[in-house]
Amino acid sequence: MLNKSKGNMTTQQRYQQSEKGKETSEYGDRITAKRSNLMAMNKVKQGSQRYPWVTHTWNVVKGKCPHDCSYCYMKRYPQPKLHFDEKSLSNGLGDENTIFVGSSCDMWASFIPNQWIERTIFRCFEYNKNHYLFQSKNPIRFLDYTDIFPDNVWLGTTIETNRHYDFISLAPNTDERRHAIQELNYPIMISIEPIMDFDLDVMVKWIQDIAPHFVSIGADSGNNNLPEPSSGKTKALISALKEITEVKVKDNLSRLLEGEVIKESE
Ligand code: SF4
Repeated sequence: MLNKSKGNMTTQQRYQQSEKGKETSEYGDRITAKRSNLMAMNKVKQGSQRYPWVTHTWNVVKGKCPHDCSYCYMKRYPQPKLHFDEKSLSNGLGDENTIFVGSSCDMWASFIPNQWIERTIFRCFEYNKNHYLFQSKNPIRFLDYTDIFPDNVWLGTTIETNRHYDFISLAPNTDERRHAIQELNYPIMISIEPIMDFDLDVMVKWIQDIAPHFVSIGADSGNNNLPEPSSGKTKALISALKEITEVKVKDNLSRLLEGEVIKESE
């Protein structure tokens, strides 16, 4: 992981001395006073459709996600108004976990108040023995927080396709996402899920330019009638990406691969 310490100060110390850190320290004091040993995170179950390499998900920003993706699995559940969940913020995050922060609602969407994001990041600082995944379809917003990110953070974005299917989501299109994520000097992961029909040469070039630490590829698990690539094209993409980076193939891709399971180590 990157060590973002500058001089003799750690990132956390720099954060606490920054204006943002001062603003949020009062929240930190309150949080510490109320700290309980409860784990509000959801442990990721084996066989879950989420990332198998993530141990927990943790959601503080909750409710109807502003990006409103047509395939969003959260639409299966009641969608309350967007809100900040103080109770979840105050619970413990443990040690040595890999936590996907904001898995059920994109907490980096442009409508989300800065203070919600800052308070969530500050909480991660208090549990600095974990690794954190921040993933967003609005990765340009990460750029506003690079001075206060914890050291053990992965940044990710979703690039389902290089094509523009504007009926799918209100999020910035994948071209905007890939330009933004390229600007970030952090360990990067790219999620190609749910994969949609694409142009092979363009997709490969995009990933090459981003140079992520790894790519995770998965398919629609919800019968959302998305424009999907053929089996041959999907296999060609996997092979080409394996020349560039590590490729993690999710189990749900086997439907598109006509039952063939491609192991990550291949
Ligand atoms: S960005 Fe993620 S959480 Fe938000 S609507 Fe899309 S799939 Fe759902």
